[in-house]
Order: sequence, then C-alpha cells, then structure tokens
Amino acid sequence: MEPKLSDYKTEVHNDWCPGCGDFGIVNAIQMALTEMKVPRHKAAIFSGIGCSGKTSHFINIFGIHTLHGRVLTFAQGAKLANPEMTIVVAGGDGDGLGIGAGHFVAAGRRNVDMAYIIFNNAVYGLTKGQASPTLQLGLKTKSLPQPNVNQSVNPIGLAIASGFTFVGRGYSYDVRQLKDLIIAAVKHKGLAFLDVLQPCPTYNDINTRDWFAGLDNIDQTTRKSQPRIYKLEDTGYDPVVHYGSEEEVNEKLTQALVKSNEWDTKIPTGIFYQNELVAPYEQRIADRIPNYLENPPAAQPISAGGKPITDISKILDSLQV
Ligand code: SF4
Repeated sequence: MEPKLSDYKTEVHNDWCPGCGDFGIVNAIQMALTEMKVPRHKAAIFSGIGCSGKTSHFINIFGIHTLHGRVLTFAQGAKLANPEMTIVVAGGDGDGLGIGAGHFVAAGRRNVDMAYIIFNNAVYGLTKGQASPTLQLGLKTKSLPQPNVNQSVNPIGLAIASGFTFVGRGYSYDVRQLKDLIIAAVKHKGLAFLDVLQPCPTYNDINTRDWFAGLDNIDQTTRKSQPRIYKLEDTGYDPVVHYGSEEEVNEKLTQALVKSNEWDTKIPTGIFYQNELVAPYEQRIADRIPNYLENPPAAQPISAGGKPITDISKILDSLQV
C-alpha cells in the first residue's frame, strides 16, 4: 500500500511557538516523503540542537536527535554504513554555521549523497534569541542589548565555496515550493544543501513574515507592497552544470555567488547551483573497495550464535601498556 501523508506524522507533542516557521518546514518534509513514496524503514532524519532539533521527533521515519553542531557527522556515518537509506538532515543556522561550521565545510568536500536543511531564523531561538551567525551586522533584534557586532555568514556562498553540489534556498511560508525543493535535494546525487528562511516570531522582530512580504516597502506609484522573496526559476535562471567544462562550472558558480549576495530588497529562492557530475563520496569509496555498495557495513553480519564474530583480541593486546 502506498504511504499517505499521515503515515509520516507522529503523535509527539509539539511546543514550538504559534506562528513559528518551523511548522512549514516539517510539513514540507512530510509532503516530500509522501510524494516520493519513500518507505519509512528506508529513511532516517537526523537533527541537531535548537528549536529545529525537535524535527526528528515529528517525522515518522527513523529519527536521531544528535549533538550541537555535530549532526552532519552522525548523518554521514549512517549513510556510509547503509548507502541504501534516504537521509535528511535538519538543523538550525546557529547549530550548522556556528559550532558546526567546521563540519559544514568538511561535509561539502566529501559530497555524501544526502540532503541537509538549515532552518535559518538568524537567532538562537531555543536559548532566548541571541544573535546567530546569519544575523546581519548592526541589526538589533529584541533580545539583544546592543546591535549585532559581527558580520553575518552567507550560507549559500559558504556552501558553494565548500563544495556542496546542490545549493538552494526555500521559504518556510511557501510550503509548496519548499516541498519541491526538498524533493529535488533528496533526489540529487551528492550532498544537497537547503537554506530555509524561517521567521522566528518570538525573537526575530526584524526578519518577520511581513518583512519578507515587503509590507514595509510600498511602491509609491501602485501603492502595493513589494515582496522581497522571488523565485529564481521565474527569471529564466539555469543553475545546472550540464557538461562540466571548467568554463561552464566557473560560470555557474559565479552566477550562484552573485545571486547569494542579493538580500535587503530582493531575496532569491530556488536552486542556485547543481552539479551532478562530481562523484558522490560513496562512489569514491566504491572505486577503492569494489564490493562496498553491494556489501556495506550495515549489511554485514556482526554475530553468530549470540557471539560477536569479530575477534578484536589482537587489537586489545596491542593496546596494553
Ligand atoms: Fe520557533 Fe522562534 Fe519559538 Fe523557536 S523560539 S519555536 S524558532 S518561534
């Protein structure tokens, strides 16, 4: 029987604040899994620490709530142990771009085949709204005693510079587009990154739903608001590397970086860059260990007759002092 949307929902109590953008992201993940008909026993979601960390409790597939900044390490390990699994990773901007920034860069270099979604609200919501790495210099959200004194990280630019082979951005209140982006990210062959703009109505009183809708930005002629969010696909933008020549890759990387710097008045969403011509990490391992994909670690027996079949006594002996 084909899975239904309700199959991917859990009964776990949700205590996110009313109006939080996180709800839209969870809905989009559930809708994407439903549309792709991903068998629940062949999918896992890993989450970091923060409000977004609770995501793994709300999606009815294997769920692993990990450590602050370390979610990518757990997820990569699981995928490499069992390459058949569909892996979705969820975390906040503080989690992934603050304490986890080193792992973010290292993961980009590896290109393990999975999708990483950052819930980007520019604050540490779970701990009362301190400035996170994506809050712009000089902004003073309501929990800050002084304006933010640090430059912000550009998540799209950092992902491109780190080697992610799929880089996109969604908006948590456009669930339909976000669902399509998640499907594209999961289907991508390699490491996909989605920066999801997620208003935090409790602590970020600047980058609000009304701000993204441009309600403060009225066209004097038409008297209409000018939405900041727009879709790259509506402009004829082509993010895909088709041939892989050095010239083409440079051209696609450059246009993605230029787009990643658009903010204040116009904020692009959609796929910025996609290159499936770079070998995923699993393929690089298979090139060295020919039976890796047919017989990965998760498929190998570890015990027989109730006893471990691996004899590690020699290793233990060698460690004796
Ligand atoms: Fe959402 Fe912000 Fe509340 Fe966290 S603090 S649940 S991010 S609204």
